[in-house]
Amino acid sequence: MKEREKLIDGLIQRGYLSTSRVIKAMRTIPREIFVPEWEKEHAYLDTPLEIGKGQTISAPHMVAIMCEALDLNEGQKILEIGSGSGYHAAIVSKIIGRGKIYSIERFHSLVKKAKENLNEAGIKNVMIIEGDGSIGLPKYSPYDRIYVTCAAPSIPQPLIDQLKKGGKLLIPVGEVFSRLILLEKNEKIRKKDLGGCAFVPLIKGK
Ligand code: SAH
Repeated sequence: MKEREKLIDGLIQRGYLSTSRVIKAMRTIPREIFVPEWEKEHAYLDTPLEIGKGQTISAPHMVAIMCEALDLNEGQKILEIGSGSGYHAAIVSKIIGRGKIYSIERFHSLVKKAKENLNEAGIKNVMIIEGDGSIGLPKYSPYDRIYVTCAAPSIPQPLIDQLKKGGKLLIPVGEVFSRLILLEKNEKIRKKDLGGCAFVPLIKGK
């Protein structure tokens, strides 16, 4: 697929992508499956696109930045907050191979659509769950990695609690001007600011 190759080559040139398994995942997953019918011709533009309910599929460079920052590895157990279209989870799925992704989405219609999209893309290790991601998903915790694809006013404590020791959490923090924050949980909690970003807001409750 020429357009996809061009997009990924551009992301490499611009310095967003450098790890071979992340690059391979982004070259493999067809983004057009995850965008609505009326946006298909824009699937390979490096921009967020509307997916309904006022939500968006993240721009490919943001998916790349997040996948690189999370230091994802084969076999990991991952929690995603904000399934949206399912695209980001599909990329992570390719990177972690035999691992498993649990993904929470608050809109019923998006849960349904994300499941359909992942099915169409042949992805089998992502479980989409309807609910409020700000409380995490204690049932399958602790997680190797947790990432949030909507901007939270602050880092929800349940997400830190549900992270393994040595685990990493990536989350946009701040509602108008968000910062992408990488948290590492060891004896101490360490936070690193990876820069400014723009995401739809995390809405608490159902
Ligand atoms: N990762 C997605 C991007 C989704 S945009 C993709 O690749 O397409 C962020 C998503 O977070 C939206 O679908 C929104 O409905 C969802 N969201 C917002 N607040 C939430 C919450 N409290 N719990 C779960 N999902 C939430």
